[in-house]
Amino acid sequence: MTQFETAQKHNAELNAFLEIFDENPFPSHEGPLSNMTVAVKDVLALKDARLTCGSKFLENFHSLYTATCVERLIGAGARIVGKTNMDEFAMGSSNENSAYGLVKNPWDKTRVPGGSSGGSAVAAAIGACNVALGTDTGGSIRQPAAFCGVVGHKPTYGRISRYGLTAFASSFDTVGTFSRTLEDAAKSLEVMSGFDEMDSTSAKIDVPKFSQALSRSVKGLRIGIPKEYFGEGIEPDVRKLIEDAKKKLQAKGCEIVDISLPHTKYCVADYYILTTAEASSNLARFDGIRYGRRAIPPPLEGGGKGVVSLEDTYRHSRSEGFGREVKRRIMLGTYVLSAGYYDAYYKRAQKVRRLITQDFIAAFEKCDALLTPTTPTTAFKIGEKLSDPLAMYLNDIFTVSANIAGVPAMSVPVGLDSTGLPVGAQLIAKHFDEETLFALGKEIMEQLPYSSIE
Ligand code: GLN
Repeated sequence: MTQFETAQKHNAELNAFLEIFDENPFPSHEGPLSNMTVAVKDVLALKDARLTCGSKFLENFHSLYTATCVERLIGAGARIVGKTNMDEFAMGSSNENSAYGLVKNPWDKTRVPGGSSGGSAVAAAIGACNVALGTDTGGSIRQPAAFCGVVGHKPTYGRISRYGLTAFASSFDTVGTFSRTLEDAAKSLEVMSGFDEMDSTSAKIDVPKFSQALSRSVKGLRIGIPKEYFGEGIEPDVRKLIEDAKKKLQAKGCEIVDISLPHTKYCVADYYILTTAEASSNLARFDGIRYGRRAIPPPLEGGGKGVVSLEDTYRHSRSEGFGREVKRRIMLGTYVLSAGYYDAYYKRAQKVRRLITQDFIAAFEKCDALLTPTTPTTAFKIGEKLSDPLAMYLNDIFTVSANIAGVPAMSVPVGLDSTGLPVGAQLIAKHFDEETLFALGKEIMEQLPYSSIE
C-alpha cells in the first residue's frame, strides 16, 4: 500500500488529515529527499492549498505562497501527502479544539492523540508519511509524539524559518517534525534549517549534518535529571520506562547528574500569560476584512438604513469564526496586556521567563542534556479534560519550559505501558545542540509494534 493509500484508508475513522492530495500536485524532483513523503500541519502555508489552521474562520482560505520549510522540503524532492488536522490556531493539548472534528489515537480509539499537532502525530504513527511537520509553541510536537509513539522533535527557536507559519505566539512558535525514525527527523531537519531572509528571527548559524550525529558515541556525556520533573502525578509505568532509559544511558557510559531547575513551578503560569498575550495580538488580524470569514450582522434595529459599522463586522466575524478555546485565550491575553494589569502580569511574566531561561543555562554548565518524562501520563480519554481547561493546561507541565527558554527538545518512544499505550521520554539540550539529542535519542529509543496500528 502506498502512503497516500494508507492516509486514505484510515481517515474516515481517525480524521488525521483535513486534505489528502491523491492526485499529488507537488511532484518530486531528484534530490536528497526524493524517497520521502511529508504531511503538513494545516497551520503552514502551501501555495494554492487550503490553510484553515483548524478554524472555521479560515474555512475557505487558500494560501498565496508556500512556507519556507515546506518549500525547502519540496525543493529537496519530498512529496506532500496532505494537510493535517490540528487544534484551532494550535491552541490545545488534545486535538479536540479543531473546527473539523477530533482526531483519534490509533493505539486506542477512545483516547486523544494529543495536541495541537494531533493529526501530524497520527499521520506519522500509522505510516501515512515518513515525516509530518508540526509546530511546537509549548509542547504541540512532543506531547502528541509521546501519546502516539513516534519521535517528535522541536529544534532550537530560530533553527527553522517561521515564514509561512500562521503565528500563535511568535517568540515561542517552532517548526519541527514527527517521524517513526530518527534518521528521517535528522534528514528533514538538515533540509529545513538555516537562515531565511523572510524571517528575521531565523538564525545565521551553520547547519550541521544531523544524521551523522546518530552514529556518535555518547560515552562521557553528562545527563541531568531535574528533580522538579519527577515529583507527584507521574504514572508508575511512565516513571519506570524513564528510569529504564536512564539506565541504558548509564550502560553506554553516560554520567548521571542530579540537577535542579528551581523556577519550574512557574513555567505553566508563565507560558499561559505570555503566549495568550502574543496570541491576542497575532489574532487581531482575523477581523473579517483582511482574512477569512466575514459575518454580516443582522439588520439594524428600528429599520436602520442597512449601514453596518466596521466594528459590528469585526465583532460578528470574530464571534462566529473563533471557537471557545481561542476566544478564552484572546480574552486572557487582552487582560494581561491591558493598562493597569500589564505590569502585574505581562511584565512580570517576562522577568520570570528570564529566570527560567537562566535555570537552563546554569544547568547546562553541569550537564550536556536533560532527561525527563515528556508527559506525566499516557494519552487520556476523549472528553476527559474538555470541561476543565486548567487540567488540560497542566498536561503541558514538562514541555512548556523548553519553549520559554528556546532550547531544543525531543520526545522519543521508550516503550508501551501495561495497557499498551506509548510512553515518551524527553531529552533537552543547549541552544543549537540538536546533535546531542539525536545521539542520545538513538540510545534510548525502543522500536514500537507499528504493524498493530497500520
Ligand atoms: N498545549 C499547549 C497550548 O495549548 C501547547 C500548544 C502548542 O505548542 N501549539 O498552548
